[in-house]
Amino acid sequence: MPSVETVRGPVDLDELGTTLVHEHLRLRSSPVDTEFPHLYDGDDAYRRATGVASALVGQGVKTICDPSCMYHGRDIRFLARVSEETGLQVVPCTGIYTYSQLPQYFANRDADHMAEVFAHDIEVGIQGTDIKAAFLKCAVDEPGLTDGVEKVLRACARASKRTGRPIMAHSHPDTRRGLEIMDVLDEEGVDPAKVQVAHTGDTDDLGYIEELLARGPFIGMDRYGTEIFLPDDKRDPTILALLERGYADRMFLSADACAEFDWFPPELVEQMAPNWKSTYVFDGVVPRLREGGMTDDQLEQMTVANVKRWLGS
Ligand SMILES: [Zn+2]
Repeated sequence: MPSVETVRGPVDLDELGTTLVHEHLRLRSSPVDTEFPHLYDGDDAYRRATGVASALVGQGVKTICDPSCMYHGRDIRFLARVSEETGLQVVPCTGIYTYSQLPQYFANRDADHMAEVFAHDIEVGIQGTDIKAAFLKCAVDEPGLTDGVEKVLRACARASKRTGRPIMAHSHPDTRRGLEIMDVLDEEGVDPAKVQVAHTGDTDDLGYIEELLARGPFIGMDRYGTEIFLPDDKRDPTILALLERGYADRMFLSADACAEFDWFPPELVEQMAPNWKSTYVFDGVVPRLREGGMTDDQLEQMTVANVKRWLGS
């Protein structure tokens, strides 16, 4: 049985069970966190992360993929401690999350060097541990393929081809970035079955989504509760329409929520996005989609079978 890396070592693909494919146990604006650690409360972050992880386990979620990478304050030992304490399986990644610039280190070196760095996390281990990355993460947002963004995308492609690991690419559907992502990955020779275009659920433009699906990737319907990107009452019908058109085997459900999140003052986040929580998927979204006609089999595909196919691709 093929296996997948988690923060507590490899598990059989069959052991993944119900999985939320895009949740963060902690998201910090690095390097702010390492330069000004007094701004952060480590005990509180740990309490929040274990609280969310335990609540997910209580809902029957067995695994999350945590796409925290460079610029997210990725801390693999933190993820391992939370997983150890709560039993939630956490699938970690490597990569760089930027919409434009790179630090001088990477700006002045080529994509092949960056690919080597990513491959180290996959083949040797992350941050001095023997915990290995299970997938690669990159981002193409509104600014598009800046030099830095394109370098990360190509480095992910090359590391994926070398190691066989799949790719999750953050996208900005309003500017149709998913298609640009596929253009570059196709050019690099990546098998589209290894690609997940995250945040595709931020649009209800079925024309764009079907154009993207025709290119072969999985899509993330993964930002439930973030009404500023798209209200839930537009997300639901989009998913139901895609289910009706036969795409249950191509979608993931998730919230992209963060147990600790420092991009905005916490009060503002609570006010702007009260439902933006990892537990909201099974508390709020799944019951609504069921009412709208989603079958058990379709749910199983989006939360179990597709995850196995993507991570095991
Ligand atoms: Zn995310």
